[in-house]
Amino acid sequence: MTDPKDVVQPLEDSQTPLVAIEELSSLRGVNAFRDATIMLVDDEPTTIDIIEMCLQDAGYSNFVKTTDPTQVIALMRWEQPDMLLLDLNMPEVGGFEILEQIRSDPELQYTPVVILTSSVDAETKLKALELGATDFLGKPADPSELALRLRNTLAAKAYQDRLNYYDALTGLPNRKLMMERLRRGLKRANHDARDCAVLHIDLDRFKQINDTLGRQIGDDLLKTVADRLERNIRPTDAIGGSQPQGNGGMLARVGSDEFVLFLPWADSVENASRAARRIIASFEKPIELAGHELFVTCSIGVALCPGDGDDIETLMRNADIAMSEAKQQGRNNYQFYSESMNVQSLERLGLETQLRGALARREITLHYQPKIDVRTGRIMGSEALMRWRHPEMGPISPGRFIPVAEETGLIIPLGEWALATALRQTRAWHDSSHRPLRVSVNVASPQFRSGNLPDLVRNCLQRSFLDAKYLVLELTESMLMENPEQAVSVLQEVKSMGVKLSVDDFGTGYSSLSYLKRFPLDELKVDQSFVKGIPHDADDCAIVTATIAMAHGLGLTVVAEGVETVEQLAFLAGRGCDEYQGYLFSAPKAPRDWREIFEKEIEDAQ
Ligand code: C2E
Ligand code: MG
Ligand code: MG
Repeated sequence: MTDPKDVVQPLEDSQTPLVAIEELSSLRGVNAFRDATIMLVDDEPTTIDIIEMCLQDAGYSNFVKTTDPTQVIALMRWEQPDMLLLDLNMPEVGGFEILEQIRSDPELQYTPVVILTSSVDAETKLKALELGATDFLGKPADPSELALRLRNTLAAKAYQDRLNYYDALTGLPNRKLMMERLRRGLKRANHDARDCAVLHIDLDRFKQINDTLGRQIGDDLLKTVADRLERNIRPTDAIGGSQPQGNGGMLARVGSDEFVLFLPWADSVENASRAARRIIASFEKPIELAGHELFVTCSIGVALCPGDGDDIETLMRNADIAMSEAKQQGRNNYQFYSESMNVQSLERLGLETQLRGALARREITLHYQPKIDVRTGRIMGSEALMRWRHPEMGPISPGRFIPVAEETGLIIPLGEWALATALRQTRAWHDSSHRPLRVSVNVASPQFRSGNLPDLVRNCLQRSFLDAKYLVLELTESMLMENPEQAVSVLQEVKSMGVKLSVDDFGTGYSSLSYLKRFPLDELKVDQSFVKGIPHDADDCAIVTATIAMAHGLGLTVVAEGVETVEQLAFLAGRGCDEYQGYLFSAPKAPRDWREIFEKEIEDAQ
């Protein structure tokens, strides 16, 4: 088979439908249609010449022409014309046959086809329409009628395209159009031995804005973001210097707060990085909406072709994986895809699958770590910590599975189970030992955000018959700071039941003192990363000392985490720290062992 490229005149890249469809579909008036690519099929070269001249007079300039009917389908796949003017009577393959092939081809079936023929009898016309012709014109066609029919056909297609291929909110191409364009863009890049890049752009914490400020502001924000992105990808610095005009980045909205940018000319890693940096920089200025000043950032994943994938599915998936990595790296940055990310993400996927059934298979348990009074050395309570033992993989640390559970939403049932179990077990120990110890339970941010934390706590307390004053909920700073207003009201509701509230891992987030004051807290836990350095690291010592003083100033009990040595404990005692947890006293223990620990303490005291 001859290369379709040999059958037609070489095309300038600016004439590709890649650009034409977009222009066409923007419905910016009659002129927009003139960028459309029109395919002319006739076995008579002179007929083609005449029609081309007519259409040129009408303002059209992008043509794909062939006199070889056997090449039509291959050419259409390659050039993706916006419409076809098709002769009926041709040798080897007739127009009807071609029409039938087009209508049964998933990729081409919706291309408008106008039949142009000298056989104008009713039977032929009917058959053409039956086979799916869009319109029918007799030869020789009157130039003005030809132009009119063409315009109507293209206008109808443009309208349909807008509905099918564009996002109604932002006016950007949607996922479907992006995939089509990527497919074509990759084919071309491959043919021209060019490199290209896919950037997956995801807004950070968009859901939070949507939830707090409402959908309308969320929508307006997305429109503003789309505008900013569009303005920032137009400059040619995001792409190589030698490409024809009009082949710049191609932006689409592919999910609620997800955008994809395809750079068909990213001939170096630097090109793609520059595009990513520009986008990130474009969000430095806040977005002002309805009296709010919103600071929006985004995380970007980049996949390069060739290298990170040769087909669109792989490229899109890998850009997505790289984007997740950018989120993990603290958001507001970009990451290039790497093989190891894939291994990690497969591992995570395996973990996720296993975690789904873990509760039902009773692989999850709670261990308890004592909380000790620094001055008296007495046990004050315990922290319930989740443990997962997989039958084949063995014990999997919370550091590995909790993040997966949080990302997938599995933390909701797991967290509910942990709370209910911790309360039930604690109540049973109260009954059997007559030593009413407190129990601390960790709350994950999806649980906190879900809005039903107060109901859950109330329910679990009722079912366990445990007095609320024995329950401490551990929350992290970042959880509170994500949405301080909402946090205050959730905390107040829980607090009103009599439950105590603790900030976990203090010092690792960004909470400000002024905010901390606004939350109805009881306890602050100094993160173990600071405890690790005392008494030798001067910075850690200063931080721990200041934190204890500050917390006491706010009327909070201070608990030090991760205390492993007597020196650490002595330092903490000297600074007035109230309680501690750590291997020095005991690692987290299975329920039976934990019970032994506190029962022994009771005996010792007697
Ligand atoms: P966390 O709440 O800050 O828990 C303290 C962690 O420090 C626990 O790790 C504990 O085993 C560990 N640890 C205690 N003493 C020492 C010590 O002396 N030295 C050192 N190096 N480590 C010590 P673990 O059990 O691996 O849990 C890690 C994190 O996973 C927890 O940090 C918590 O954020 C999360 N997590 C555990 N269980 C749950 C749960 O039931 N729900 C939720 N949402 N998160 C949980
Ligand atoms: Mg904790
Ligand atoms: Mg902690």
